[in-house]
Amino acid sequence: MRAIVIHAAKDLRVEAAAPTALLGPTDVEVRIETGGICGSDLHYYQHGGFGVVRIKEPMILGHEVAGRITRLGSAVAHLKVGARVAVSPSRPCRQCRYCQAGQQQHCRDMRFYGSAMRFPHVQGAFREILVTDAGQCHPVAPTLTAAEAAMAEPLAVCLHAGRQAGALLGRRVLVTGSGPIGVLCMLVARRAGAAEIVVTDVADAPLAIARRLGADRTINVATEPQALVPYAADKGHFDTLFEASGTGAALVAAFDVLRPGAVIVQVGLGGTVTLPINTIVAKEFELRGTFRFHEEYALAVDLMGRGLIDVKPLVTATLPMERAVEAFELAGDRSRAMKVHLTFE
Ligand SMILES: [Zn+2]
Ligand SMILES: [Zn+2]
Repeated sequence: MRAIVIHAAKDLRVEAAAPTALLGPTDVEVRIETGGICGSDLHYYQHGGFGVVRIKEPMILGHEVAGRITRLGSAVAHLKVGARVAVSPSRPCRQCRYCQAGQQQHCRDMRFYGSAMRFPHVQGAFREILVTDAGQCHPVAPTLTAAEAAMAEPLAVCLHAGRQAGALLGRRVLVTGSGPIGVLCMLVARRAGAAEIVVTDVADAPLAIARRLGADRTINVATEPQALVPYAADKGHFDTLFEASGTGAALVAAFDVLRPGAVIVQVGLGGTVTLPINTIVAKEFELRGTFRFHEEYALAVDLMGRGLIDVKPLVTATLPMERAVEAFELAGDRSRAMKVHLTFE
């Protein structure tokens, strides 16, 4: 069994890993077909971690995966060998007060694939064979490819962000940041009935994809810095902001074009930012966070399976696992890549 292991920044290796031979009663063995490279995987690759989270031992990366079931634990009755499943990377403890309250994304003892937040690290899912919990396996519609199924995780993140935004029907929505998360937030807002969606970024290539997927307008704020100005008239135009760039500059610039009472959903992680508090007060903004997901994972699988959200155009390259280093370099180049997938067969 081979896996993609990060040892330190820029030290990514495809190497042999010990397979799990014994299946517990509620375990499921999955032959991984596809895995998507996420921003957090890239952080481990480029910088060896983010913030105080650092790689302290070799760790298998990856948490956006799909594959086919090869073996079932003795107590698993609702899944079938051979079925394609999207595998949720999150395994909440089910016992802490947040799990008990249905807020599993805030679990005190979360195990999330490919995360160095705890030590020993939680090993990730970029591997040929993964033994996981039956509760993390979501069978997908036969029409879905493994690549689409592997998009369930980032889509779930954005469905949760959409829930945090509240009503979107008839709303005018601004999305800052046109990476995979920004574009998926756009698709969620569209599906939820947004009347108008404008997407901004500082690069043309990702904006072109947002346009192709249905943005009403895209603006490159680096090359057209004045393009947002007309939206500031009459105290602002947009009802809802999905901030998906993780930059303070994008958030602060959006304050001018948000109308009083607007809802801001901060999706991107972005360190420490200085905010004009007077604007938040005077325009009565609601600033909301959004973190991971829980039941939205099943919703993502369902919406894709019924053809209601099409994520295929986001996948701009697919490389075999042997070319993992090349794939990670490509994923880090926004002029050439949106979502890069690895295949494991
Ligand atoms: Zn992800
Ligand atoms: Zn918990």
